Amino acid sequence: MTDRKQELAANLAKVEERIAAACEAAGRRRDEVTLIVVTKTYPADDVRVLSELGVRHVAENRDQDAAPKAAACSDLPLSWHFVGQLQTNKVRSVVGYADVVQSVDRARLVAALSKEAVRVGREVGCLLQVALDAGESARGERGGVSPAGIEELADLVARSEGLRLDGLMTVAPLTGEYAGRPQAAFEHLMDLSTCVRRAHPAANMVSAGMSADLEQAVAAGATHVRVGTAVLGVRPRLG
Ligand SMILES: *Cc1c(COP(=O)(O)O)cnc(C)c1O
Repeated sequence: MTDRKQELAANLAKVEERIAAACEAAGRRRDEVTLIVVTKTYPADDVRVLSELGVRHVAENRDQDAAPKAAACSDLPLSWHFVGQLQTNKVRSVVGYADVVQSVDRARLVAALSKEAVRVGREVGCLLQVALDAGESARGERGGVSPAGIEELADLVARSEGLRLDGLMTVAPLTGEYAGRPQAAFEHLMDLSTCVRRAHPAANMVSAGMSADLEQAVAAGATHVRVGTAVLGVRPRLG
């Protein structure tokens, strides 16, 4: 094994231990939580090693980096998640490799994704990214639909050709009433998910929790955690 492979294997084992312990503490089965490794800013070689180590889900947040990486790794049995703010002019590229777009937050983006998915004959999974700090200044930077806008956007995705409504995603807010209270934020997301599932029972993915707060996400009921730093190391630049 190369040094990097050993390092990634050790980090993955630690993250796996954390997820398993959090599941145990919450009385949940380990297979109720899926690990998505966020590979942004790291090279395709790392993605390949992660695949060899058994990782099946990876996430990226910038199309410029993700598109070439996904192309270089197209032979690997991986699901690609797009988790960054998505401009409509990048939709064509993203639909070329993304199995799931976790950052769906506005009608115009839904229309663009649907049109492109139909054009290339793919089905794209969609998570609505929820801004739990809607109204705060951070919202503009990170995107996300406000809780009040979820129902309408969910219905729109559900009736859009080429798209599949998979559920909800959030990032723990840094400002507003949930600042410093990730578990409360994730519990709110779970309540919103319960509402969405009344109309769309199959939309049962709840993507929440990162390196710093995956335990709180698992405790709240998340089905997917998105872990970057704890697996790959501190990113060399802002991602
Ligand atoms: C970078 C990123 C993550 C992973 O964050 P870490 O703190 O490195 O685990 C998760 N979700 C999104 C949307 C991200 O952009």
